[in-house]
Amino acid sequence: MTQTDICIAGAGIIGLSLALELHARGLSVIVLDSGAPMQQASTAAAGMLAADDPHNPPEISDLSHLSLTLYPAFLDRVHSLSGVAVPFQTQRTLQSLSDNRAPTLPQELRAKLMIEEDSTALDPDSGFIFLAERSIDPRQLAPALIAAVANTLIQAIYDSPVISTSYGAGSVTVQTPAATIQASHFIDCTGAWAGSSDNDANFRAIPVKGQMLSLALPADLPLRTTLRTEDIYIVPRTLGPAAGRAIVGATVEEAGFDRTVEPAAIESLRQRAISLIPGLAHATIVDSWAGLRPATPDRLPILGRHPTRPHHWLAAGHYRNGILLAPATAKVMSDLILDRTPAISLEAFSASRHTLSLAIGVL
Ligand SMILES: Cc1cc2nc3c(=O)[nH]c(=O)nc-3n(C[C@H](O)[C@H](O)[C@H](O)COP(=O)(O)OP(=O)(O)OC[C@H]3O[C@@H](n4cnc5c(N)ncnc54)[C@H](O)[C@@H]3O)c2cc1C
Repeated sequence: MTQTDICIAGAGIIGLSLALELHARGLSVIVLDSGAPMQQASTAAAGMLAADDPHNPPEISDLSHLSLTLYPAFLDRVHSLSGVAVPFQTQRTLQSLSDNRAPTLPQELRAKLMIEEDSTALDPDSGFIFLAERSIDPRQLAPALIAAVANTLIQAIYDSPVISTSYGAGSVTVQTPAATIQASHFIDCTGAWAGSSDNDANFRAIPVKGQMLSLALPADLPLRTTLRTEDIYIVPRTLGPAAGRAIVGATVEEAGFDRTVEPAAIESLRQRAISLIPGLAHATIVDSWAGLRPATPDRLPILGRHPTRPHHWLAAGHYRNGILLAPATAKVMSDLILDRTPAISLEAFSASRHTLSLAIGVL
């Protein structure tokens, strides 16, 4: 039996960020994943750090802004451990304020999407505002984050699902097909799979499918600014291997664990993008994919102690904002586990909110 301070299930952005933070605080850490690391929601994402999206639930505002302040240090840590610099791709977002799912984007605003930053104020009647919002490319972050973890003493064991946990005095025993691990703390970071392998579970994360596509931008349409309406977003990549492309997303579907990419859904996204920026009619589709956002019934993350199992923690359910929320999640979860008071209130994210009427499922 292997002994460790911390055993984390799930090597997506939440599990790996938390592993780095706990390791930096001096704890021994094992990370397990049922497959390869960073292959699920964390690389399906567009990578917007959308802390001020008016459609976000207000409860995540403090956590989102904490994460924004932590992002540069998070990327610096990844850089210093992996040798790979992950840049911010965009610096601002043109956000529609209209509830109309297909607002008209005036020609003069379309032109502004090709400028990274400018200081001209927008006509308040335009129905759009500029947000000082950045984005990253999660597919650029993934190899850097995996390498950063590999260059520490964290033990990362992939293709190794957690199949059960049991609880004794002062520790959790975690079982995989090939290993038994005894940990002082177990943390479920399995995203859309949180709680899903317990047949008696009344709580499970809800997978919410998102289909997306990537377009190669025509030379006369060098987008530099993210565009977001209530219905769709267009996120340009400006640096690295995907520079010159734009991500168009995304569908929001409750379809279980199905990740089928449907040509009709991709074409519908493409047409909606063209209706905002007609020049995208000349952009070719490079790729399309689907990922599973980890949701909870109230669409807020669960961050904290398991309500009934000792030494068992949950950091899951980040839904549409897990890329944004990863650095803050790593920090506040590490504070909780080390018995320190986090900088912000986590009351809205307590697992017990789902157990008032439900028994929560565990791995
Ligand atoms: C289409 C789409 C667009 C998005 N866009 C954005 C965006 O622009 N900005 C943003 O902030 N967020 C965005 N998100 C949300 C973001 O991707 C997620 O919130 C985030 O990636 C969740 O990270 P995670 O580590 O919890 O989950 P995941 O990345 O899914 O990782 C969970 C891991 O757990 C593993 N696992 C499952 N079961 C077990 C088990 N029994 N034992 C061990 N391991 C297990 C899985 O293999 C997986 O590797 C988007 C998501 C989608 C799908």
